[in-house]
Amino acid sequence: MAVAAAASGALAMPQAAGSTNAESDGSLGAIAQRPQQDVGRGGALDTVAAAGESLTAQTSETAQEAHVRIMEQQRREAAAAAARAEREAKRWLAPVSSYRITAGFGAGGSMWSSRHTGLDFAANMGDEVYALSSGEIIFAGYDGPYGNKIVVRHWDGTEVWYCHLSRFDLRSGEVKPGEVIGRVGSTGNSTGPHLHLEVHPDGGEPVNPRSWLEEQGVSV
Ligand SMILES: [Zn+2]
Repeated sequence: MAVAAAASGALAMPQAAGSTNAESDGSLGAIAQRPQQDVGRGGALDTVAAAGESLTAQTSETAQEAHVRIMEQQRREAAAAAARAEREAKRWLAPVSSYRITAGFGAGGSMWSSRHTGLDFAANMGDEVYALSSGEIIFAGYDGPYGNKIVVRHWDGTEVWYCHLSRFDLRSGEVKPGEVIGRVGSTGNSTGPHLHLEVHPDGGEPVNPRSWLEEQGVSV
């Protein structure tokens, strides 16, 4: 309506100004009218088009709603799967399944040059040794009194030493929680098959593995 009114206003101007030449006036008026007709036709077409678009919009709105619903559901499922994967990757567990703790952290004795810097899990020769959680193997090799040793830098930055191994199952790369990295042995300064476990938060000084594991929800 506003457009039509504006067009009418524009149309009146040449008629009012063109008083000297009627033909020219009419011609100008005809020319001036064209846009108005165009606007009118355009308006009618627009109305039809608008109605069509409205129908299309209604149809696509429903389809879009369904699409949004599906996308939202997929997003929720993906988020749940990601949360499950993160929980799985960040879970902690004991390094051996069947064991007896034979020496605690800080214990004294002839076996150690100073105080015991880890926790001893006596187990059967060849038993599987599991990664406490996910991480990366940053060392695997023989290390004097520690014998065959694997160091895993776990996802939280804690470096854990798995010592006296009889065998390496893995020597490098990423590990998952519970993945077999080696086997219980008695290499290095050891009198019988056991796993000597050391926990070094952020690669620093060793802490009591038992209380540290307890903090991760693992009782040993
Ligand atoms: Zn030990």
